[in-house]
Amino acid sequence: MILTAENYHSIEANKAYMSVSQLKAFDECEAAAIAQVNGLYRNTKTTSLLVGGYVDAFFAGELEQYKEENPEIFCKNGTLRAEYKKADLIIERIQSDDYFYSFMVGGEIQPIMTGTIAGVEFKIKIDFLHDDKIVDLKIMKDFAPIYLPNRGRVNFIEAWHYDLQGAIYQEIVRQNIGKRLPFYINAATKEDETDLANIPVPQEVLDFELESAIERIPYYHAVKTGVFEPERCGVCNYCKRTKKLTGSVTWDSLCNNDFSKDVEER
Ligand SMILES: [Zn+2]
Repeated sequence: MILTAENYHSIEANKAYMSVSQLKAFDECEAAAIAQVNGLYRNTKTTSLLVGGYVDAFFAGELEQYKEENPEIFCKNGTLRAEYKKADLIIERIQSDDYFYSFMVGGEIQPIMTGTIAGVEFKIKIDFLHDDKIVDLKIMKDFAPIYLPNRGRVNFIEAWHYDLQGAIYQEIVRQNIGKRLPFYINAATKEDETDLANIPVPQEVLDFELESAIERIPYYHAVKTGVFEPERCGVCNYCKRTKKLTGSVTWDSLCNNDFSKDVEER
């Protein structure tokens, strides 16, 4: 299948290719990931995701199309909702900083590429591809470290798996152009006063993420192609929506975060 901007997010394309967002979905919940691939479930569009998408669309020259496809960004009287007025201010701030903005101009915008990782076909769409670097734009709440129960304090790039994204992008670009390019995050915040940062993701971090992804990808592909049954995480929105009670839960289990899983296994 030949990928285009129009069919990139189609069910057909998602079935034919693995992507970074699929990989992240599988990491979170296999059952939800499979339902998303098959078009049976969509993560709800959060305002946070929509604001990021709005800014991305602006720099891709696709803002008008974005507005048409996402009417929820407007108030009933036709004006932009407050969050998107803020997005317009973030865009202005981004364009006002020469160093930051230089990472976003002069390259290819949203090129689509495909390649193979661990024997599985991947698709990527890069925010900004230059001759000497790969750049992804992120609109964050702020740059504060994030506490993850299983990992402790991590920076926002690790917390949101942007390092995994960089690793996959770098490898697919390498397969297409024959050299490995550094991966940068260009990040802006939605704080009252927008903060800006440009962060090169260390190569050893990208190497680690690629190696660990290579270990998981063949299994996820096998789940995707029906060789293995997807496991339910038991706690995500998809699992809640599709949960069928088979009995009651005990009083004591209410102190255990995993009680929904216990119900299914009973
Ligand atoms: Zn789940």
